[in-house]
Amino acid sequence: MTATLIKGTEIREQILEEITEEVKQIKEKHGVVPGLVTILVGENPASISYVTLKIKTAHRVGFKEIQDSQSVDISEADLLALIDKYNKDDSINGILVQLPLPKHIDEKKVLNAIDPDKDVDGFHPVNVGRLMIGGKEVKFPPCTPFGIQEMIVRAGVETSGAEVVVVGRSNIVGKPIANMMVQKGPGANATVTIVHTRTKDLAAHCKRADILIVAAGVPDLVKPEWIKPGACVIDVGVNRVGEKVSEKTGKKVAILKGDVDFDAAKEIAGYITPVPGGVGPMTITMLMLNTLKSLKFKLGLM
Ligand code: NAP
Repeated sequence: MTATLIKGTEIREQILEEITEEVKQIKEKHGVVPGLVTILVGENPASISYVTLKIKTAHRVGFKEIQDSQSVDISEADLLALIDKYNKDDSINGILVQLPLPKHIDEKKVLNAIDPDKDVDGFHPVNVGRLMIGGKEVKFPPCTPFGIQEMIVRAGVETSGAEVVVVGRSNIVGKPIANMMVQKGPGANATVTIVHTRTKDLAAHCKRADILIVAAGVPDLVKPEWIKPGACVIDVGVNRVGEKVSEKTGKKVAILKGDVDFDAAKEIAGYITPVPGGVGPMTITMLMLNTLKSLKFKLGLM
């Protein structure tokens, strides 16, 4: 059997088109568009490339986008004042602070200063709490887990009553996706197990999974014999395992591998996400959706 590929690159295009259409309609009816500000401190090349991609995507879907670049030696007080300014700015619906921040700044203090109703990353403790309560309380699910759930739903995989096993318990992927899949409601209603490095028999848990979500950061951790035939396998892992010369640009690029032995697993699974091109493209896409949702909450459309 060869699994159906769940391609994040394709789902991203569908969702971005849907967002663009909705932004147009809201603009026509209400005269406003979602506003997203990205605050970048310093000149870390990886951060610059993430922020550039976020801004480019926001522009593509018709948002108002601001890239606010600050010097690496901005004081914590000045950064907090900047966040306060955007918290009070009516034209801004989403505030992102690109991490990591320089060592003299307390990241937690900065992230917690963002108005929870503009925290489109979904990491503010208020939004973590809302996610835990579930249902109508939820405003902004964190973007990677939100993308994972969306992929499962759009692939047409039944989640109600499914055995979901999540490998990894991080605050950005493992714990939130487990929490989301166990909630009452569409795209959820699953029976969820979280496994980690202290789990006694990782293989035995994985073998029970109708939906196996792997976010460990260990290349090829999940062996093909751990996969239940026909299961849906979501590989969140992005591991750099070497370098190659890109055919397109002639430049050196990283060779990326997931946490699942893809070539063997695709012969057993019913659905599988590739790496790259699977979960990766979904994160920024869901950031755009959260920013649109933020404006819709404000306008009373949700
Ligand atoms: P993390 O914070 O390092 O957490 C990894 C989790 O996996 C931990 O809970 C750890 O268990 C568990 N784990 C590690 N090795 C294991 C093993 N051998 N057996 C069982 N459990 C094991 O990582 P993360 O931030 O969640 O990210 C996980 C992976 O997803 C990384 O490759 C990351 O690059 C990728 N990622 C991709 C996206 C995206 O595509 N957009 C977004 C976020 C993350 P303990 O808690 O016991 O240590």
